[in-house]
Amino acid sequence: MDLPRRILVGQGVLEQLGEFLKGLGFSGKLLLVSGPNVKPRVNDQVMPTLTKNQFESVWYLAHAPGTKDVEEASSIARSERADLIIGIGGGKSVDVAKLAAHRMNLPFISVPTSASHDGIISPFASIRGLGRPYSHPCRPPIGILADIDLISQAPSRLLSSGCGDLIAKLTAVRDWEFARDDVKEYYAKYAAKLALLGAEMVTREAEHIDLGDKEVVRDIVEALISSGVAAGIAGSSRPCSGSEHLFTHALDLMSTNSGLHGEKCGIGTILMSKLQGKDWKKVKESLIAVNAPTKASQIGISSEDVIQALVTAQSVRPERYTILNKQKLDRQKAEELAETTGVI
Ligand SMILES: [Zn+2]
Repeated sequence: MDLPRRILVGQGVLEQLGEFLKGLGFSGKLLLVSGPNVKPRVNDQVMPTLTKNQFESVWYLAHAPGTKDVEEASSIARSERADLIIGIGGGKSVDVAKLAAHRMNLPFISVPTSASHDGIISPFASIRGLGRPYSHPCRPPIGILADIDLISQAPSRLLSSGCGDLIAKLTAVRDWEFARDDVKEYYAKYAAKLALLGAEMVTREAEHIDLGDKEVVRDIVEALISSGVAAGIAGSSRPCSGSEHLFTHALDLMSTNSGLHGEKCGIGTILMSKLQGKDWKKVKESLIAVNAPTKASQIGISSEDVIQALVTAQSVRPERYTILNKQKLDRQKAEELAETTGVI
C-alpha cells in the first residue's frame, strides 16, 4: 500500500504549511507549482510560513496539464536542486507537480484549492499528451494540506463536480465486483467499502447538502481524500473509476472540452447505474440536489457525442472489465439508454 504520511484538513491551515512540512521532516528548497490565478490567492499566506521555517522556494506557473509543463517543472526542479515539489491548485497544477515529482523521484505534497475531483490526492495523474486519456500511476502525495477556507472560496460548481466524482464510486465498485466474479480480478473489500462511503454520503444526505456550509465542504474534501486513499490501498484506480469514467474518458478523447471531470462522471454514473440495474433515479435526484448537471446539454455536450462516447467507452481501456463488457452497447441501445435516463 502506498499512502500519504500526513493529512491536515482544517480552516486556515495554509498558514501552517511551513510547520506541516517540518513535521514531515523536510527542509531545504521547495518547488511550488500552481496556476497563474492561484499564486496571487495564496502567496501572502504561503510565503511567511515558509520563510519562518527556513524554507527556500521557487515558483513554477503551470498553464495546462500537458507534458510540456511537466518537463518544464521537472527541469526547474533539477536546476534549482529542489528537495520537494508542492502542487497548489484545483487539479491541473497538482497533476503537473505530481508527475514532475514522480519523474524526478522527489517527494510530493498536495495543497488543493478546490474539491472538484479525487485527483487532488490520488496516486494517479491525468496528463494530456501521454497517449491515453486516463490516469497515469504515480506515487501518492507524502502529505496533503487542505485548507477549508481556501477551498470554500472556489466557485460552488467545483464542489458540485466533486460530488459527481464521489457518486461515481457506486458504479465503479459495482464494476469491480463484476470483474471479481467474471474474470477473477483481485478485489480489495476494504478499499471498495472506503470508496463507497463518500458516494453513500452524497446519496444519503444530498437534500441537506448546503455547499456554502464549511462543514459540508470539509465532508466533501475528506470523502475525496478517502477515495484517493482507497486507490492507494487497492494499488489501482479500480475503486474510484469504472464504466462511468470510461464514458468520461471517451468524451475527453473526442476533444469535448466541455464540462468538468466530476460533472461528466456524475452523468456517466446515471447511465451506468441503469445498465447495472441499480437505482439510477436516486443517483439522478442526488446530483440534482447538489446542483450537478444530469443532462449533457447543461454542460454543452451534444446528444451525438453522448451516444458515440457510450458506444466507444469500453474500447478506451479494454483491459478494464466493466458492465460494458456484459452489456455491449450498439448505437441504438446507447441512444435508448441516454434517452430513458434523460441524459439526452
Ligand atoms: Zn474521477
